[in-house]
Amino acid sequence: MVEVKILVTVILGLMILHGESEYIEYNTSQRIVPGKINVHLVPHSHDDVGWLKTVDQYYVGANNSIRGACVQNVLDSVISALLEDKNRKFVYVEVAFFQRWWRQQSEILKIKVKQLVNSGQLEFINGGMCMHDEATPHYIDLIDQTTLGHQFIKKEFGQKPRVGWQIDPFGHSAVQAYLLGAELGFDSLFFARIDYQDRAKRKDEKTLEVVWQGSKSLGSSSQIFTGIFPIHYAPPDGFTFEIHDVSPPIQDDALLFDYNVKERVDDFVTAAVAQANVTRTNHIMWLMGEDFRYQYANSWFRQMDKFIHYVNMDGRVNALYSTPSIYTDLKNAAGELWPLKTGDFFPYADRENAYWTGYFTSRPAFKGYVRMMSSYYLAARQLEFFKGRGSSGLNIDALADALAIAQHHDAVSGTEREHVAADYAKRLSIGYAEAEKVVASSLALLVDSRLSSRHEDAVTKFQQCPLLNISYCPPSEAALSNGKSLVIVVYNPLGWKREEAIRVPVSTEGVIVHDSDGKEIESQLLPLSNASLSIRNYHVKAYLGRSPGETIKYWLAFSVSVPPLGFSTYIVSTDKRAGSSTISEVYTSEGNKDLTAEVGQGNLKLLYTTNEGKLARYVNSRSLVETSAQLTYSYYSGYNGTDRENQASGAYIFRPNGTFPIESEGQVSLTIMRGPLVDEVHQQLNPWIYQVITRIYKGKEHAEVEFNIGPIPVDDGVGKEIITKITTDMVTNKTFYTDSNGRDFIERVRDYREDWDLQVHQPVSGNYYPINLGVYIKDESTELSVLVDRAVGGSSLVDGQIELMLHRRLLHDDSRGVGEALNEEVCVLDKCRGLTVQGKFYIRIDPLGDGAKWRRKFGQEIYSPLLLAFTEQDGNNWTNSHVPTFSGVDPSYSLPNSIAVITLQELASGRILLRLAHLYETGEDKDYSQMTSVELKKLFRTKKIHKVTETNLSANQERAEMETKRLVWKVEGSSEEPKVVRGGPVDPKKLVVELAPMEIRTFLIDIDYPKMYDF
Ligand SMILES: [Zn+2]
Repeated sequence: MVEVKILVTVILGLMILHGESEYIEYNTSQRIVPGKINVHLVPHSHDDVGWLKTVDQYYVGANNSIRGACVQNVLDSVISALLEDKNRKFVYVEVAFFQRWWRQQSEILKIKVKQLVNSGQLEFINGGMCMHDEATPHYIDLIDQTTLGHQFIKKEFGQKPRVGWQIDPFGHSAVQAYLLGAELGFDSLFFARIDYQDRAKRKDEKTLEVVWQGSKSLGSSSQIFTGIFPIHYAPPDGFTFEIHDVSPPIQDDALLFDYNVKERVDDFVTAAVAQANVTRTNHIMWLMGEDFRYQYANSWFRQMDKFIHYVNMDGRVNALYSTPSIYTDLKNAAGELWPLKTGDFFPYADRENAYWTGYFTSRPAFKGYVRMMSSYYLAARQLEFFKGRGSSGLNIDALADALAIAQHHDAVSGTEREHVAADYAKRLSIGYAEAEKVVASSLALLVDSRLSSRHEDAVTKFQQCPLLNISYCPPSEAALSNGKSLVIVVYNPLGWKREEAIRVPVSTEGVIVHDSDGKEIESQLLPLSNASLSIRNYHVKAYLGRSPGETIKYWLAFSVSVPPLGFSTYIVSTDKRAGSSTISEVYTSEGNKDLTAEVGQGNLKLLYTTNEGKLARYVNSRSLVETSAQLTYSYYSGYNGTDRENQASGAYIFRPNGTFPIESEGQVSLTIMRGPLVDEVHQQLNPWIYQVITRIYKGKEHAEVEFNIGPIPVDDGVGKEIITKITTDMVTNKTFYTDSNGRDFIERVRDYREDWDLQVHQPVSGNYYPINLGVYIKDESTELSVLVDRAVGGSSLVDGQIELMLHRRLLHDDSRGVGEALNEEVCVLDKCRGLTVQGKFYIRIDPLGDGAKWRRKFGQEIYSPLLLAFTEQDGNNWTNSHVPTFSGVDPSYSLPNSIAVITLQELASGRILLRLAHLYETGEDKDYSQMTSVELKKLFRTKKIHKVTETNLSANQERAEMETKRLVWKVEGSSEEPKVVRGGPVDPKKLVVELAPMEIRTFLIDIDYPKMYDF
């Protein structure tokens, strides 16, 4: 009995020693302790808007055999966990998911969630529809997808996100820092992935946190505090608490075995001190979350509650629930001088032979489709604005949504699974189909307005041809074969007048083209090659499930002239008389005795050697540029990953294992077509690089190269990555220039990084950079520019040479999570074959200092091609009964060549969203790198502008408000910089907007009667 008594006393004693064993009230109150290391616990979940599963599968938790992930669980459980304790916090990022969840919640819960947001317990950060990629999207898409998310957050919660949160993208762009950061009003930007060599040095020197100035032109006026995580976006080892995670929980129940409070507190302090040793100030941030975590949020919050309680009782360090905004404010309040960062964080390598530069090109057809839809969305919004939003019930919101999601860092990047890529494409195609109706009805309203001023009376049915690139356009084929005339309305989404050639497939010769004044205009027929016909037949079947029907014979090309933000009309009819369109003269090099062939009839001429069938010289008789020039194709064989490192070339990573020139077997014959408007050189290099067409249009001084590559053969068991090289004898000192998301150009030097001494392990892939607009090189007298029609990877690996990667087909997974080889296929019924990709790039050589004019102006024209709409007419009276030309701007007005309208849209609220972009950087061009003005009164023609409000980039707050709130950061070293110029305030009477180089200005405009367009 005595023994029993003693035992009871001991147990009671232990229980008293460890406090109340039954209920412990954890003290999670938020406090900062000056002089101690403050550990900011930031609960978050990284929810990919599609990757291994589609966005909807991730949301509802379907297809869990691929991965157990359900974002509904995350949001449901996080909200209950936050409601349980007001000290708990959570940040949410991806509005595409949040929106799906929000619309299904009860009003009662919505009120509670709004309270959580107002109190700061739940904070939206980043706040775009997705966490976009930074290498492969165009800046206009980045702005649009962020605006969509920010507008949702503003509308539902009245909040404006303050923090950029790009934790997973594979490298970071200059445009992200200044445009999608500072210009949004963000006070900070955080991410994980930078080059492993860079990270090691930054940890050593405590320079993981910097002030980043992404734009040379805008300098300190667009800088942002940027924090790079010391390891990744997960918690320190041993602190992950999802249900299946293996980290030891805090065991603080004395009645149970393995009580471990002290050990766990020690672990916490050790990890905090380690991080504090590589971080400035006494604030450090722990990312308490990972991919698709918090599906049962309590498993995390329970542990964090305990850590905060016991760590603060221990007192060596201080722990608190926090958010990146709180962390940023404390970093700012510390008054520290921060290191300055310029340029960007490309390319990214996570170890020696693992450069993430393959995804710059992965899924090239999808990248092309995204770009095509992006430009269509821009034009469709303009036309919707001219018509008036909502007057017909149609809208372009589905395309906006699909495009936004497609900017995700596993979407346009090409790093998603095949079925997920198909899901993104399907969404785009559904969105396009709706936008197409808006475009058709807007154009009908505009052309029919002569019949009646009433909207409903618009009768013209317009068709469009999204498969025009594969020479499929039913209206252009049908109208002429049934004896009717084809009416083509050509819309120009740019603010300046354009004169260029368009082309449509036709089934007959003897056609004649008239402009809207009834004047016959010159046209040219180019015979369709067998190769083009077979591409057409196969892919029409693949996309539409049926054969294309009509047999077409020619491309009909003619020049059009289109006013700014407006259209012109052209009428094509059959006419057997002389004087109809000229059939191209066709010349083949085969059997021909001439040694060279000259192509081009204007200032630009390309000289080909006929025996080898190769481009040899580039001559411009106006600018007097004359140089040797070659255009060749090669491939890299993809590393199969059988070495010690087990690193293959794959969707993310480019790891070549040798390079092989693509030489034709035997002589390459040239087929040259010449005519009054365009000269074309056709070549087939091998069975899978065919129809390389080089075009020179009359009056243009660049060469357009169309390529058709695929199916890339892999039956030898070797994956291949196809490149083209443009080679000159220019002396370029290892230096080349590539754009950042289609905007600023950044100087690149081969085998060199500005921020650290580069150890070169991969001399090819380590010198690859993302290209969205173009790449150029220069020497003492000339500059060679190459512009692209979609995101690609490229480099200059040899002086005088530019290379672009155009297509990749690989057989191994590169072990970065996607778990699939990048082996794209196109199927007709059940028969599949490797993907063929068609695209274009454009080459021009200018005297030194003249290249920017072409890169900027023509670059914008590539992004915004003319939009073609077709209808047919019986008689000959179209122009008498319809409005044949239209311009949204004053007839005497056109935007300067240095300015683009990148957004013109009527919002659901009826207000007009206008964004104007200066296209040049400071010092880029002697004529255009200057302050430029836009007259809003002339841009809006007959509209009376009530009020113009300048806003931040995503239009969720007034610009003045953003500037007032902006945190000021101090930078190490001399703060001398050339004075940054920006346009001044807009006088409400004059309504003239000034734009300084690289400036983008965003306005909300209230106008009279936005739904009517007066004539
Ligand atoms: Zn991700």
